[in-house]
Amino acid sequence: MVTTTAPVQIDPFVQKFLSRPRGMLIGGECVDAQSGKTFETYNPATGEVLAQVAEGDTADIDLAVAAARKSFETGPWPEMSPAQRGHLLWKLSDLIAAHLEELAELETLDNGKPLFFSRIVDVPTAVEVFRYMAGWATKIEGTTVPLSAPMGKFLAYTLREPVGVVGQIIPWNFPLIMASWKLAPALAAGCTCVLKPAEQTPLTALRLGELIQEAGFPDGVVNIVPGFGETAGAALAAHPGVDKIAFTGSTEVGRLIAKAATGNLKKVSLELGGKSPNVIFADADLKVAIPGSASAIFFNQGQICTAGSRLFVHKSVFDQVVEGVAGETKKFTVGPGINPSTNLGPLVSKEQLSRVCGYLDSGTKEGAKTVVGGKRIGDTGYFIEPTVLIDVKPHMRVVREEIFGPVVTAIPFHEPEEVATFANDTIYGLASAVWTRDISKAHRMAAKIRAGTVWINCYNVFDPALPFGGYKQSGWGREMGRAALDLYTESKSVCAQI
Ligand code: NDP
Repeated sequence: MVTTTAPVQIDPFVQKFLSRPRGMLIGGECVDAQSGKTFETYNPATGEVLAQVAEGDTADIDLAVAAARKSFETGPWPEMSPAQRGHLLWKLSDLIAAHLEELAELETLDNGKPLFFSRIVDVPTAVEVFRYMAGWATKIEGTTVPLSAPMGKFLAYTLREPVGVVGQIIPWNFPLIMASWKLAPALAAGCTCVLKPAEQTPLTALRLGELIQEAGFPDGVVNIVPGFGETAGAALAAHPGVDKIAFTGSTEVGRLIAKAATGNLKKVSLELGGKSPNVIFADADLKVAIPGSASAIFFNQGQICTAGSRLFVHKSVFDQVVEGVAGETKKFTVGPGINPSTNLGPLVSKEQLSRVCGYLDSGTKEGAKTVVGGKRIGDTGYFIEPTVLIDVKPHMRVVREEIFGPVVTAIPFHEPEEVATFANDTIYGLASAVWTRDISKAHRMAAKIRAGTVWINCYNVFDPALPFGGYKQSGWGREMGRAALDLYTESKSVCAQI
């Protein structure tokens, strides 16, 4: 592992964007908070202030919801054809692609992730999600239904209609991707949106808001209110004028969202935490499984809800795999994400750093052995060593709780039959993986594992066409693919006597 701090030239547009306080997007206007307050967003590579951002709270959420309601019910948006909505979404995808470099730099500076990944993963994924959902705008169909009611002859059909005004609350780990996962299907379905980005990473969402206006979406269709979860987020989740709330983040806050939504029984979808099992059988191709498993946990500094944080390895190859995954950590170039040679950046915030360090302490105290890593790197920024822990027991916090950092617990298993039980011994059920050359075993495992996604001989493969979401306490509903449209539409039955 090497560290790099070489200075890097920031895009002049990005410098300008950061140099003045960023307002929020309400009703097509860039406005200050009603309170006049702003908050600071930080560069996690240095701990220094990056930009000032308008701090939305209940009053701003009220205005944003009113603007979204108005544009849902009147004006050009409800009059637009599905094709026109699709064209707007496609135009937005083109604008995001045209501004790739600037969005990638903003994402990296705000979140810390390596610029390399912002360029090849975050921004291109947002482009593809808007393109994929642009295609769906013209394909949201109902059905005709043959009735057997004895009272006469009927023509019955169903319509799929937009659910209405949607509130969307997103986290800091993939800020632009999360904004696109939320906004694109909602807009394809004809909803209007109030999006609250995470306080740590509001910048790309605010820039996206500018591109949304530039693409020509009618005013008020998308409103973006940065602010804190306890104020702006809670106000949005509880708002009686919101028909549906979509949330990605911790399971703990997911519970609060579900409770807050009960006031007006708004629809709820939740994409929450994970503690994903990653299972390597003795017959796996270890040349692929070892780097794949390292990437499964260390990608995005481990700050991904699907992180392969529980690595189950057959005892016959356990030492080889542990040594291999530990060896992969030596290949990282750690440093500020904005440096193009960095492939492991800092954690997002001081809070996240102390949270992950707390888990490392707890693992050591409970008897886990550190094979590699285990410590903070330096005292500037929020860097932490990629870490492999062994000698862990099922009751330990490092095995049971979501760490959301580059920390993997490796656990040997003896009998192939027992590993599915171990894999399922968690409150979560978001993702999982199986590495084996035996295709039957792979599919038997895929059937046994209780998780929304099972990868076979790969990890973290996402696609706008592939539904994603969690079993158990990992959430409610599926994002992406056709399934995402179900989150943003209501079914109406129409029945006519003929
Ligand atoms: P949170 O769940 O607190 O944050 C996610 C979003 O929810 C943010 O926009 C946050 O706002 C908002 N929020 C917070 N509290 C409320 C509330 N009471 N009502 C409405 N919205 C709220 O995650 P954290 O940032 O605190 O991270 C803590 C842990 O959560 C991580 O260590 C990780 O384990 C997990 N997590 C999981 C993610 C996932 O993808 N499943 C993503 C991020 C975190 P704000 O940030 O402005 O306060």
